[in-house]
Amino acid sequence: MKALVKVAAGPGHVAIQDVPVRDPGPEDLLIRVKYCGICGTDLHIHADEFPNDPPVIMGHEYCGTVVHVGTGVREEWRVGERVVGELHTGACGTCALCLAGKPHICDRKLALGSRRDGAFAEYLTLPAWLAHRVPDGLPWEVAGVTEPFAISTHCLVERVPGRPGRALDGAQSILITGAATMGLMAIIWASRLGVRNIVVAGTDLDVPVRFVLAQRLGATRVVNVQREDLAPVVADLTAGAGVDVWVECSGSQRAIAQGIELVKKTGRVVLIGLVGPETIPVPWNTLLYKELDLVGCFSSPPSSWEKALAVEAEEADKLGKLATHILPLEEWERGFAMMRTGEAVKILIDMQREEA
Ligand SMILES: [Zn+2]
Ligand SMILES: [Zn+2]
Repeated sequence: MKALVKVAAGPGHVAIQDVPVRDPGPEDLLIRVKYCGICGTDLHIHADEFPNDPPVIMGHEYCGTVVHVGTGVREEWRVGERVVGELHTGACGTCALCLAGKPHICDRKLALGSRRDGAFAEYLTLPAWLAHRVPDGLPWEVAGVTEPFAISTHCLVERVPGRPGRALDGAQSILITGAATMGLMAIIWASRLGVRNIVVAGTDLDVPVRFVLAQRLGATRVVNVQREDLAPVVADLTAGAGVDVWVECSGSQRAIAQGIELVKKTGRVVLIGLVGPETIPVPWNTLLYKELDLVGCFSSPPSSWEKALAVEAEEADKLGKLATHILPLEEWERGFAMMRTGEAVKILIDMQREEA
């Protein structure tokens, strides 16, 4: 089968190769992949800035159809079912984190698409416990963004201890720094949960496509911080108090330093964007003086997939808009380039389409 492979260590070394389909074991499903989305992580794997074990098939945001069911999971699964799936391959299933429903941060996890073979391939052999059914009637384009939407759901709906569930409960104002997929999905949640003022901050790169989409998804104000000062915008909207919730999706040092200044005293901070360097300067005392509630988030536990899938039909119009491009595998390089320039939000590689 055709697959996109990180062939060797170092920057680049990514190519389409003809590789064998891995025989599914008794606990596995064999999935014929429909779409696999290009993620920022894939760009980092390409550049060798994210841990990977080459040679490895890339791709972790996938949907597809079950074409074979292992003998041990035939009570639960049938050929022909449409599925999406987690990327938490290698999670042990026996440690305290796995038993608590958090295989996504298990020490032994070796994620699909970077450490284990992923889904930029015609077929994916997947441990069945990682699969989730796609609701009937849900378009493939929406199913194809389930992985990032599950992360967004985890961060914004289930990651706030003591508030059954909602980083956004009671919030009137939210600042979202970063307008790529995570920032845009945060808009979908904020608007779904009735937040009145949704401010999205980005840069020149976000203006042509992402800001336009941000407004269509429910952002009430977009700010290009390269052309406009964000602080007075937030001050105006909140009578000088700062926003109730700040969701950091940019990983930018400047955005992080400024965000801490723009969230109100006792406000909530949801941290999603990974930063490039290992350490960054932060106005630490301000976190304390303001008594901010900080929530660090990473990836997506199984519970968040179920919650995400449960609302996808209702948000299908908005989620479908995120898939701005659908390309055949042969055009992967163009897709990666469009992600870098901000021309595209989410690009789905159609693994069943030949080059035009
Ligand atoms: Zn991803
Ligand atoms: Zn574990």
